[in-house]
Amino acid sequence: MTKENIYSKMGISDEVFAFGEKILESLETRFKEIDKTAEHNQLKVIAAMQKNRVDAACFAESTGYGYDDVGRDTLERVYADCFGTEDALVRPQITCGTHALALALSANLRPGDELLSPAGKPYDTLEGVIGIRPQKGSLAEYGVKYRQVDLLADDSFDYDKIREAINSKTKLITIQRSKGYQTRETFSVEKIARLIKFVKEIKPDVIVMVDNCYGEFVECEEPSNFGADMIVGSLIKNLGGGLAPSGGYICGTRECIENCAFRLTAPGLGKEVGTNMGLMRQFYQGLFMAPTVVSGALKGAIFAANIYEALGFRCVPNATESRHDIIQAVELGSAEGVIAFCKGIQAAAPVDSYVTPVPGDMPGYESQVIMAAGAFVQGSSIELSADAPLREPYAVYFQGGITWYHAKLGILKSVQAMLDDKLLTKEKIKGEM
Ligand SMILES: *Cc1c(COP(=O)(O)O)cnc(C)c1O
Repeated sequence: MTKENIYSKMGISDEVFAFGEKILESLETRFKEIDKTAEHNQLKVIAAMQKNRVDAACFAESTGYGYDDVGRDTLERVYADCFGTEDALVRPQITCGTHALALALSANLRPGDELLSPAGKPYDTLEGVIGIRPQKGSLAEYGVKYRQVDLLADDSFDYDKIREAINSKTKLITIQRSKGYQTRETFSVEKIARLIKFVKEIKPDVIVMVDNCYGEFVECEEPSNFGADMIVGSLIKNLGGGLAPSGGYICGTRECIENCAFRLTAPGLGKEVGTNMGLMRQFYQGLFMAPTVVSGALKGAIFAANIYEALGFRCVPNATESRHDIIQAVELGSAEGVIAFCKGIQAAAPVDSYVTPVPGDMPGYESQVIMAAGAFVQGSSIELSADAPLREPYAVYFQGGITWYHAKLGILKSVQAMLDDKLLTKEKIKGEM
């Protein structure tokens, strides 16, 4: 069967297929760069595994207290070596990214300390953690103060205000790498490195934490290679490689990680306890796969930006700019557009492909939200997924794709759904060819 034939069997019309192929031709150089980054990161992972003599014994299940868990302890050394840190905490007991971030913050802050965000508002869920939004158990309830310096109009750091905000009480500085659901740009590792250097010059002993969610392996280096005391993220995003069914990680200095371990389990117990729940093989293999998986997700994001920009929709990041995370926003301009896009993504899924996503109410959101995901791991956003609040400018955020081929199919399916729903014309697609 030819390539065209199999796509047509999957419901992709000839003109949509040809349009996609035409766009792809222009992306050869960029895809090569992505492959080079993946290659570099792949070797980094293998080197860390070889150095720590990973073997079959590491994949054994432990139970109960999990004392002397070789697999767990070795995995944490692999993470530390891979990201150039003294130590790491990588555990299935860390339930999600927010949990990992809350853990890193609460473990390293004490009453009377100040937490500073020099890059504007943090991720939504952290508002409750910090207590920006009143929340039981927040850092604010424990007497931790929060300060924030907003970005300048051009998304650059307001260095003067940051200098003013740092004082004798400033204990920890949190920097969020990915834009999440904000409209600012995602920070490159280089930009974060400059900020870390700046704040460390003012206060050498301040702890710098980077929320690394969605940024891992997008570049050849991580913020931990430039002085971040902790990098933090979720294993159902990039580093789980699509295989980890849960978990989170913190890589950082010995002292920060010790604090995190005492907070995760109990003071005095720390890293010594915690069963691996029989998940070690998935964690190791997920990390091993992660560079390739992230490269597929990146290719999907760039392909989508080029497709939709050619069709006249605003994309953030745009078709040509450099990438620092795996998230792509497309402003479709109408509720119908957003719904059709999500239908297309859902129809391309290996799991739950027969389901039709519909907008619904979500706790914490003022407008209705539509989500598309057909994932092996529930809520996994390294797998191809899309969501959108139904309000102006009707932007859909999508990310992931464990393989590039799946991401490609999802995007072609979304274009097909827009065409079938008469939100695009054949002429428009042909006009772009
Ligand atoms: C996903 C994400 C989080 C929170 O992770 P969850 O696993 O959803 O709790 C925090 N920060 C950023 C930038 C994220 O992308």
